[in-house]
Amino acid sequence: MSSNNQYELSFAFSKAPEAGQLQEILPGVDWVRLPLPFALDHVNCWLLNSATESCLVDTGVNMPDSLNCWDSVFKQRALPQKLLVTHFHPDHSGLSGWFANQDTQVLTSEIEWRVVTQLNSIQTLDYQNFYVKWYQQHGIPAGYIEAVSKAGNTYKRITAPPADNPQFVKAGDKLELAGRSYTVMTGQGHAPDMIMLYCEADQFLIAADQILPSITPNVSLTPNVSDPNPLGSFLDCIERLRALPKETLVLPSHGLPFRGLHQRIDFLQEHHRLRLTEIEQALSVERNANDLFSVLFKRKLDNQQMSFALGETLAHVKYLELESRVVETVRDGLSFFRAIPA
Ligand SMILES: [Zn+2]
Repeated sequence: MSSNNQYELSFAFSKAPEAGQLQEILPGVDWVRLPLPFALDHVNCWLLNSATESCLVDTGVNMPDSLNCWDSVFKQRALPQKLLVTHFHPDHSGLSGWFANQDTQVLTSEIEWRVVTQLNSIQTLDYQNFYVKWYQQHGIPAGYIEAVSKAGNTYKRITAPPADNPQFVKAGDKLELAGRSYTVMTGQGHAPDMIMLYCEADQFLIAADQILPSITPNVSLTPNVSDPNPLGSFLDCIERLRALPKETLVLPSHGLPFRGLHQRIDFLQEHHRLRLTEIEQALSVERNANDLFSVLFKRKLDNQQMSFALGETLAHVKYLELESRVVETVRDGLSFFRAIPA
C-alpha cells in the first residue's frame, strides 16, 4: 500500500485571492478567482500581461457575481486583447461572447468550440429529453429524472451567447502571449480537446481541469461524447504530462497552484486503478449504473453531481468493457453490467 505523503504536493500560495482581486504568480502572470454557484464554488482564471499585450485565460460563468469581479479587475487593468478559452464547460467559456463584444479576440480549440455552439443552440426540450432518456436507461431514481425534466437548458442559463469568430489553436502550436512563448498541449477525458499552455522558459503549466491538486477531474462518458473511452484518453494524457519537468509549477482551474506534477499523476493513476478494481468486484453480480454509485460515491448527490457521477461510473465501466473485463446487456432499454470471470 502507498502512504499518503508519497503524493504530497507543495503549494506556492497558502490561500487564493479574494473574488475580483489580482494575485501575482510570476511577473506578468496574475491569478483571479471567481465564484461559482455549485458545490465546486470557484474557478481560477489567469491574466497574462506585458507592457503591450494582455491575454485572459477562461472567464467564469455568466452571472452578476462574475461580472462584478471583472468590473473590479478591469478598473485596475485594461481589458485583455485576447481571451483563451480552455474548454467548453460554462465556468471556463461562459463569458466569451461578453469579452468578444469588447473587442477581445477569442482563441480556443475547434473541437471544444463545436460543443459550445451545439449546447447553445440545442432546444430546451431536446436538452431535457437527452438527460431523461440517459437517466432512465441507467436506472436513476425518479426524483433526479423529474429534476432534469424541469431544469431546461442549464448550460445556456449560465453562458452568454458565445463569441462569433474565435481563432482556433491546436496541440503543438507555439503561441506568443504577453511576452512569453507557450506550447499548446491538449487534454482529453474531462473535455474532448482541452487547451493547456506550457511555458518552458519559466517552467509553468496552465493546466485547466486536466490535473487538479485536491479533487480528481470528472471523467465522463455520456451519449453525446464522441470519445469511446474517455478514461483511457484521460490516463494517456496525464501520462504524457509526465514528460514535463517534475518542478513544473501547475496552475489549475480549481484549487491552489502547486508543484508535484509527477506525484499528482501517480495519485490519479492509482485512484482510477483502484476504482476500476472496485467496480469490477462489485460487478461480480449484475448491476445497473445506479446500483454502482454506492461503490463509487459515498455521499448523497445533488442534481448536478448526479450527471457527473453517472458519466464517471460509465467511463470506468466502458474502460473495463474495452478490456473485456465487463459486459453490458440491454433489456427493455435498460443497461446492466456484469464482470466477466477471469
Ligand atoms: Zn471543466
